[in-house]
Parts: sequence; structure tokens; C-alpha cells
Amino acid sequence: MTLRVTVVTIFPQLIEQYLDASVLGRATQRSLLEVTVLDLRSYTDDPRRSIDDAPYGGGPGMLMMPEPVLRALADPRVVRPTIGLSPAGATFRQADALELSQADGFTLICGRYEGFDARIEDACDRLISIGDFVLAGGELAALMIIEATARLFTGVLGNEESAREESFALDQLLEYPQYTRPRVLDGHEVPEVLLSGNHEEVNRWRYAQRLVRTLQRRPDLIDARGGISPQEVELLHRYGYDELLQTMNKERLER
Ligand code: SAM
Repeated sequence: MTLRVTVVTIFPQLIEQYLDASVLGRATQRSLLEVTVLDLRSYTDDPRRSIDDAPYGGGPGMLMMPEPVLRALADPRVVRPTIGLSPAGATFRQADALELSQADGFTLICGRYEGFDARIEDACDRLISIGDFVLAGGELAALMIIEATARLFTGVLGNEESAREESFALDQLLEYPQYTRPRVLDGHEVPEVLLSGNHEEVNRWRYAQRLVRTLQRRPDLIDARGGISPQEVELLHRYGYDELLQTMNKERLER
């Protein structure tokens, strides 16, 4: 099985260079991932190979012209769904990466300048944003989506467990803290439980740590999953997080 991704961009080399390295480079060599990069300028029909024009109604900057993008989307190498990259799209999440990793592939369209003529947006199956900030172009967004997706594609990571256990993968909680050697560093010790050899206890402690970290750092994720359950409250009491529980608003405790 191969995950087939097509990218439409005016900077093919930005995409190609990154794809050569690390996890994605290995996945490509092993034919698990096949990325086709389409140079938007090759779909132009004027000698200057124009891809941008001024907005009707005035305003700053230039817009991506619709025709070259629409011609690129008609290329047989385009795999659906077609995804326009835009700060105005739905925010990309781990669940989207998982969904895309289970499809045959997808196409990412990178904007530049002040963004797309609205008819490009209409022609896309969907619009995705990688967060509430504005980049100069869609290429970094495309690479982030390809990387997040490809590493969930079966066979890309050596150890499938690692993707299953990390942040956002289970239960909308962040990952637990992890330690490697040395056991003591400038007086900071690795928690005793991790040296105990008691796997049940290690798992229990890790679950409690995932709750604690998420409550402290991303309470919005706790809200999104509807708070924490009585069993989870009990677990946090057991590890002495009473103060944290007291600071939580009541709704988060009523899952
Ligand atoms: N004028 C646009 C707006 O206010 O929404 C921003 C255009 S941005 C400077 C140029 C291109 O970068 C966009 O068309 C899009 O492809 C890409 N881009 C910028 N921020 C992005 C984000 N957060 N997520 C996905 N793509 C983004």
C-alpha cells in the first residue's frame, strides 16, 4: 500500500528538499509514500507564466489567479480529496491526520500572496488551516500535513505503538512525561515508579500524568472531551493532586 499525495505549489523545491530527509525520505524509498509535486507555473498560458493578479474591489497585494490552479486540479495526477491550504480553513488536528492516513491519498494546494481567488476555494473539496496564524505561503502547512499523516500510515514508523500512545491519540489527552538515563540529573530524579518494574502501576501513574498535564496545559482539551470521570478524579486523589482538583471548575469534574 502506498499513500499518494500531490502538492500544487510555485516552489516545488521547498517541498522536494524536505521530503528527501528523515522519516518521509525513508517512507518514499520504501514506496510507502509517493509525493508528486506539480509546479503551478506549468499550468499558465502566457509568456510571463503569471499566477497572480490584483483583487477586484481594490485592497492590498495580489491574489492567486483561478485558471492555473483549476487547470492543475484537472491533472490526472491529482488525488482527491483536494485540500486548499488557508488560514480560513478548519483547523488541522490529529484526528484529521488519522483520517487522511486511511484514505488512498490527497492533494494539497499551496497559496501565496494574499491568498486564493474565492473560486479556487470553491473548487477544493475542503480547506484546512494549520493554526490561527498567517504564514507567507502554504508550503510549510503542506509539509506539516504530509508528515503528520504519513507517520500514521501503516509501516512508516518502525514502532506502531509510539503513534498510538502519543499526545492526542488516546482519549484527547497529552502524552505522559518520559525519562531516559541518567537516573539523577542535577538533583532531579526519575520518578521511582518507573524503576519499580510494576507495569500495572507504571500504566496507572502514566494515565494520571496525562490527566494532570492536560488539565494544567490544555484545559480546552478536557472541556472538549466533556470533563473528567469520577474514576479519573479518584486516580488524581490517589496520587495527591487534590490541590489541582480544587482549582478545576465544577463542570470539568462532571463527565
Ligand atoms: N490573506 C489571507 C488571509 O488573511 O486569510 C492570508 C494569505 S497567506 C499570506 C498566503 C497563503 O499562505 C495562503 O493562501 C495559504 O495557502 C498559506 N497559509 C498561510 N497561513 C496558513 C495557515 N495558518 N494554514 C494553512 N495555510 C496557510
